[in-house]
Amino acid sequence: MTLRGRLTTAFLAVVLGPVLLGTIFVGTTVATVSRDRTAERLDHAVTTVRTAIAAVCRQLQATADAVAVLPTDSRDTAARQIEARGLASDVRLDGGPTTWQDCAAPADGGVVAISARARTDDGVVAAGQLLDAGFVDRLAASSGAEITLLDPRGTNAVQSTVPDRIRGEIVLVTVAGRTARGDRHVRRLTVGPGQPLPLAVSVPAADPTGLYLVLLGVVLVVASGAVLVACRLARSTTRPLAELARAVDRVAGGELSTRVPVVRHDEVGRLAGTFNRMTRELQGYVQALTASRDQLRRHLTVLGDTLSSTHDLHRILRVILQTALSTTGARGGVVLLADPADGRLVARCAEGLTGRWNVPEAELPTLRVTPGHGVLGGVAETGEPRRGVCGPGGTAPGEPPCRTYVAVPICAPAVVGDPLVPGGPEGTAVPATLGVLALYDRLGGDEFDDTDLPTLRTFAGQAGVAVHNVRMHEEAQRLSLTDPLTGLWNYRYLRESLRREVERASRFGRMLTVLLLDLDHFKDVNDRYGHAAGDAVLAEFARRIRVGLREVDLAFRQGGEEFVVLLPETDAYGGTIVAERLGSAVRDLPVPIDSRRTDAETGRPIDRVSVTVSIGIAVYPEHGTTAQQVLDAADDALYAAKHAGRDTYRLAEVVSATVPDGQFDQAAAAPGGPQPPRQSRGR
Ligand code: GH3
Ligand code: MG
Ligand code: MG
Repeated sequence: MTLRGRLTTAFLAVVLGPVLLGTIFVGTTVATVSRDRTAERLDHAVTTVRTAIAAVCRQLQATADAVAVLPTDSRDTAARQIEARGLASDVRLDGGPTTWQDCAAPADGGVVAISARARTDDGVVAAGQLLDAGFVDRLAASSGAEITLLDPRGTNAVQSTVPDRIRGEIVLVTVAGRTARGDRHVRRLTVGPGQPLPLAVSVPAADPTGLYLVLLGVVLVVASGAVLVACRLARSTTRPLAELARAVDRVAGGELSTRVPVVRHDEVGRLAGTFNRMTRELQGYVQALTASRDQLRRHLTVLGDTLSSTHDLHRILRVILQTALSTTGARGGVVLLADPADGRLVARCAEGLTGRWNVPEAELPTLRVTPGHGVLGGVAETGEPRRGVCGPGGTAPGEPPCRTYVAVPICAPAVVGDPLVPGGPEGTAVPATLGVLALYDRLGGDEFDDTDLPTLRTFAGQAGVAVHNVRMHEEAQRLSLTDPLTGLWNYRYLRESLRREVERASRFGRMLTVLLLDLDHFKDVNDRYGHAAGDAVLAEFARRIRVGLREVDLAFRQGGEEFVVLLPETDAYGGTIVAERLGSAVRDLPVPIDSRRTDAETGRPIDRVSVTVSIGIAVYPEHGTTAQQVLDAADDALYAAKHAGRDTYRLAEVVSATVPDGQFDQAAAAPGGPQPPRQSRGR
């Protein structure tokens, strides 16, 4: 049942219940009163009838006595006068017939009149009242009731004022000793002293039907009014609630601009007002949330684009930090990465910091934190996030000043067997802490809470993946550009570096010297001591080259036992000095090898091998204006050194004709991959 139905029912029950109860009470009372009134009327009628009969008897007696005291001759005249005046129906001077019932004695036979007698000297004077219809009518009129004169046995009606059809029923009622028949109350008057006649006095019962109809009408009017009022009240009560329910439905469907009218200031009005306030605030929250979600989405898009499109670690870290700041509403933050050299945390990216942490980006690497010290060092060492409120001195000496902070570790993704993930035994996946992401001072003054941790962990995870990827990429790039046997740059990187250095020298008007080195009779080393010994010689030769160079110089293994050294900003003279130094570094110290061979002459095991190197020197722009020309010139010089007996160096000759620019590049771009070093001269 609806609320409206329940309210209507309740109101009707409250109003109609008492009305119906009152109606029943009034109806019952009316019935009782009308019954009592009927009984009262009947009592009154009975008394009146008794009194009337007694009066008639007394009057008859007085009449008989009056006639009896007259002289005999006057009696007849007096009797006629009495009859004429109606004081008696008949006056007899002979004592009257036997069918005249004496008032003093009960009737016992076919009575036709009641009488009173008076003795005279010579007889009896009788005054009688005939029991005719007129007598009965008079009795009925005087008593206000219906009179039925019964025979002495009481089983037949002699005279009656009631209609013939119910006369017999009244007799039956009196015979049965009952007091009522249908709508008529009956009382039987039995004969006795002062009551010579058997009579039945009856009165019609009072009829309360009219009253009942009035009552019914009142009830119907009240009920109709109550129903109307109940419906109206229930409607006026439930209509605002129904509107409110519809509004709530619309809000649930997403229409947060829904409002309900506040018509009255009752409880429902207050409810409507509260609802409007609630939806207004909800709308504000949702708008703020949507804006923040859109902002976050934009940041995530930028973050995703950045992560997927670049290996620029600094840019990635800056985007991650900015996204973390705007997501948590923090004032400032910093990303620190562990320096693989000493394990200390180095600031790589910072935003919104104060104090000594507010430095230009170039100076960030000077801000370092030792693992295990302070909040940042603790997070890096334990790998556990931390959040809290700072004291007046900040989190720890040397860390950014703040009121509140949250710091999470930046971990590398757990990859089984990843050589770049340190910390665990081989084959196990142990995420290493690569750094720390820390945020400070949430705007608005609130502390960072536990819900910030998963968000920051996500960003820190992305930072970890980015750092890991960049390092993997760097490592892969390094591997693709280095020679695994000697650790020197390979031929591919030689091409790039030579072109770059030639360009740089050309732009800044500097010189560049190229040394081309080839071990002498290296085939013999392989043949005599084995290939492994040859490899060991190559590796040791490369090490000696590295040791003998400046930091800006670059050394490459061009292929086989041929090596190239680039000496930026070095002229031919400098090149010859380096060539000499390298030549003697190889020549002076035999290379230790692990060989099972023995010396044929001494019979002792051979554990060292002496090697020498021939070097060709060419200088940009002296010997060539392109990378390829310079390299070719160095090759020619090397050939000359070989030709001169080996274990020496030669400077390239100055050439007049120039090869068109870009030949080196065209050769490099030729199908079939990089152009192999020139080995056609039997070196
Ligand atoms: P030359 O003085 O004229 O340069 O004589 P050479 O024997 O050094 O010259 P050649 O070009 O005939 O031989 C080069 C040898 O270098 C051939 C090959 O066995 C050896 N070699 C090339 N690459 C490697 C390598 O990676 N490891 C080893 N062990 N030997 C290599
Ligand atoms: Mg050689
Ligand atoms: Mg060679």
